[in-house]
Amino acid sequence: MTWPSPIGLLLGLGFVVLGQIAVLIYYFLRREVLHSSNFIQVKQQEPKTSLWSDLAHHISAPESFLLVFGYLSTVWMFRLLPDSYYDLSGSISLVQLLLQFLVVDFFTYAMHRLEHAWPALYVRSHKPHHHWISPKMFNAFNGSVPDTISLILIPLFLTHQVCRSVNNWTFIAFGTMYAAQVGRKKERKKERKKERKKEEAWIFVLFF
Ligand SMILES: [Zn+2]
Repeated sequence: MTWPSPIGLLLGLGFVVLGQIAVLIYYFLRREVLHSSNFIQVKQQEPKTSLWSDLAHHISAPESFLLVFGYLSTVWMFRLLPDSYYDLSGSISLVQLLLQFLVVDFFTYAMHRLEHAWPALYVRSHKPHHHWISPKMFNAFNGSVPDTISLILIPLFLTHQVCRSVNNWTFIAFGTMYAAQVGRKKERKKERKKERKKEEAWIFVLFF
């Protein structure tokens, strides 16, 4: 087997990191400067922790970057993605981008339902994720390794197999936006719908 060029993979990982830095700056401004955190639970709060200790835990937790970057490197290098994913010609296809979000959302929903419906799976994978009473942004990834596999890696892999005409740039755009919205998912639950929609629109505008 000949190994594929890692350039597309490195570009993708680089953009994901940039996207995460942008989310982190936004989160820092909201949490530390604007102090605009409305928690779901008003009476019961999580113990107070500093942003830096949250960040250090997030980066070092095996179920966050390590697992996701390991997954992406493996599927890329072992050519487990459809051929179109390795094609760096052309530009971002908005249709393929939206299709990937629809498909990944469907598989994530299905896996989440399965995790809640199957007690043995729930205890082993998803229960730690629901440990937080009033979750913060970093808690989106921090749970357990089986939970990240069930809710992130399996839906992603199935999405690659369903969306088979995605080129490298569209895959990079999807990966960057997907990673940014996973982190924000927990926070978003706390916010009013109007505010949430406004921000989602901004993510799209900034990207194009
Ligand atoms: Zn759940």
